[in-house]
Amino acid sequence: MATAHDVPIWAMMTDIAALQAALKAALAPVAGDRATPRLDGARASIILDVTGLDADDRYALEGLVRETAVALPGIDEVRVAQTSQRIRRLTIAVASGKGGVGKSTVSANLAIALQQLGRRVGLVDADIYGPSQPKLMGVEGTKPTARDKVLQPVPTPYGVSLLSMGQLVADDQAIAWRGPMAAGALGQLMDANWGLADTIVIDLPPGTGDVQLTMIQKHRPTGAVIVSTPQDLALIDARRAIDLFAKAGVPVIGIVENMAGYACPACGEVSDPFGRGGAEAAAAELDLPFLGRIPLDIAIRTASDGGMPPVTGTGPERDAFMVVATHVKTWLDRGGNNATYQ
Ligand code: ADP
Repeated sequence: MATAHDVPIWAMMTDIAALQAALKAALAPVAGDRATPRLDGARASIILDVTGLDADDRYALEGLVRETAVALPGIDEVRVAQTSQRIRRLTIAVASGKGGVGKSTVSANLAIALQQLGRRVGLVDADIYGPSQPKLMGVEGTKPTARDKVLQPVPTPYGVSLLSMGQLVADDQAIAWRGPMAAGALGQLMDANWGLADTIVIDLPPGTGDVQLTMIQKHRPTGAVIVSTPQDLALIDARRAIDLFAKAGVPVIGIVENMAGYACPACGEVSDPFGRGGAEAAAAELDLPFLGRIPLDIAIRTASDGGMPPVTGTGPERDAFMVVATHVKTWLDRGGNNATYQ
C-alpha cells in the first residue's frame, strides 16, 4: 500500500500549488485583494488587510474569509491575521469670501476630478447656509447611516463619498444653527468613517465665520483653495478668506477664477460680464499660485442642477476643471507643500 512517503515531492508541491491557487480564487470575490493566503500543509494562514473598515465590517469580512477557506477540500485549519495600514489623509478646504461665486460647484468638480486622477476622495459639505452637494452629486434625499454614533458617508455615482450638513437636518428645516451647533455638526462630518479615502475636500460656507474658525482650530486643513469671480468686490472678500488661512498658517494652494468670460450660446461671442483676469492678477500680487479659470457657461449650471457635475461629461468645461484639479493633485502628491505651477 502506498504511503505519504511514496508520493514524489514534485506531486505534493503541485497539489499545494493547486490548492493555493484554488484558495486565492475562492477568496477573491469575497475579499478582493485584501486577503493574502499562505498554505502550510492543510493549514491556511491568511493575512487580511482591513484598512479603512470599521469593527463590524472587519468582523464580517473575517467570518466570510474563514468560511470560504475552510469549505475548500484539503484545508483543515484556518488562521486569519488582520493588518491595517495607516491612511495619511490630506484635507483641502474650498473657501470664498462671499456666496454665489461657485465655491460649491468648484468643490464638487474638484472632488470628482481628483478621484478620476487616482486619489480616493471624500467630500464634506460644511456650507450650513446652503448645503447643495447632495443635489450637485446626484444623491439628494439619501441619508447617511450611523454605526456606533459614527456617520457612514453616502456613496455617489462618481466614486466620491459624501457627507453634508444638509443630510443632518430635515429638508424643509431652515439651517439657522448657532456656532456651537455648527461646530458639533462639522465634527461629526469630519470624524465620520471615511474608509479608504486619502483626500477630503471640504466645501466651507462663504466668509470667515464660526465654521471656518472651527475648521482651522479643530480639523486643521492641509491646504485651502480660494474661489473668486474676477470682480474687484469679490476679490476684496476673497482676500479676507486668504488672510484667515494665512494667519492660521494653513497654506493656500491657490486661487480659482470662476465665471470668467461668457460664451454667448446664440452667437458664440465671448464677453466678460464680471471682467477677466482679476483673480489671476490678485494671485500674482499676493504671490499665490493661480490654479485656473472656469468660464461662465450655461452648460455648467444645467449639468450641475441635473446632478451631473460637468467634469463627468465630455464638454470643454471639463477641461477647465481638470486644469485646476491637476494643479491641486500635484500639490497633494508633493505631500502638501506649496508649489508653483508654471
Ligand atoms: P457658492 O457655493 O459660491 O454659493 P454655487 O457653486 O452654489 O456658489 O453657484 C451658484 C450658482 O452659479 C449655481 O446655480 C451654479 O450652478 C452657478 N454657477 C457656478 N459656476 C458657474 C459657471 N462657471 N458658469 C455658470 N454657472 C455657474
